[in-house]
Amino acid sequence: MKTIDLHVHSTYSDGSLTPEELVSLALTSGLSALALTDHDTTEGVDQAVDAAAGTGLEVIPGIEFSTRFLHRDIHILGYWIDHHSASFQRRLNEFLDARTVRNRQMCERIRQYTNAPISLARLERCFPDAVITRAHMAAWLMDNGFVETRSIAFDKYLGEHAPCFVPKSDVTPQDAIRLILENGGVPVLAHPLLYALSKKQLRALLGDLKECGLLGIEAVYVQNRGSDEAFVRSLAEEYGLLITGGSDFHGENKPDIALGTGIKSGLSIPYTLLTELKKARRINNSRES
Ligand code: AMP
Ligand code: ZN
Ligand code: FE
Ligand code: FE
Repeated sequence: MKTIDLHVHSTYSDGSLTPEELVSLALTSGLSALALTDHDTTEGVDQAVDAAAGTGLEVIPGIEFSTRFLHRDIHILGYWIDHHSASFQRRLNEFLDARTVRNRQMCERIRQYTNAPISLARLERCFPDAVITRAHMAAWLMDNGFVETRSIAFDKYLGEHAPCFVPKSDVTPQDAIRLILENGGVPVLAHPLLYALSKKQLRALLGDLKECGLLGIEAVYVQNRGSDEAFVRSLAEEYGLLITGGSDFHGENKPDIALGTGIKSGLSIPYTLLTELKKARRINNSRES
């Protein structure tokens, strides 16, 4: 069976491999397609596309937007956005400005709680190409001896319920979906079971987002347990959404997760999901034009 991975991070956000290294790894892992979905940036997309040219690996341009809804960090994946559009990049910069403000506030809190001399400028020097995320703060704290492990950094300081956490702005999932659609992309709700929403809240969210133009939901996901995938598939059916799948690969920043196959090879994402997604893209774009 041809397999794919539609959720992958590079050094342009909080992954540890460059786009070129991801392409090499995808080829040696036997994947047929890979979508690069860095947090709030498309900077690595062209490099990945160029690296894959002539290799037989299909690279799908992607992004993973961080948005805020019901006091949660909701992630919206966008595929095939016209990322060269100047107006799209301008809007993306507005999203990134909100992240910068929040990152500064978080660094200040971390300084207060740990006495660590962390600052956004320092993080940017350490990770020059990257959109700075909490994963970089965790890595910095670990590399400089202020915490022993990443998970301690999240438990004690950076996690959603920890004292140094600051939410990002007020970009909503609806804003992200509209932006993706306006630029020819296909919007998909990432890892719907990671938001600690009740079934009722999740259904309300899906109803809202579907109305806004959401086209897919990530049903095949690295952290699924037991009947999780079946449940998300049933939601997809209920709301008329396509299904996508991904490992959320971050390289060394999430060392248990392998590209394409996830944790302990538990993941297998069939190419047929991508075929359906491509159909949705065509239908959607012919409706727009
Ligand atoms: P941010 O977008 O700045 O809020 O950072 C989110 C990123 O931090 C996620 O995509 C993960 O890569 C990482 N992250 C969040 N929570 C954890 C956790 N508990 N353990 C390890 N990494 C995490
Ligand atoms: Zn991440
Ligand atoms: Fe995510
Ligand atoms: Fe992700």
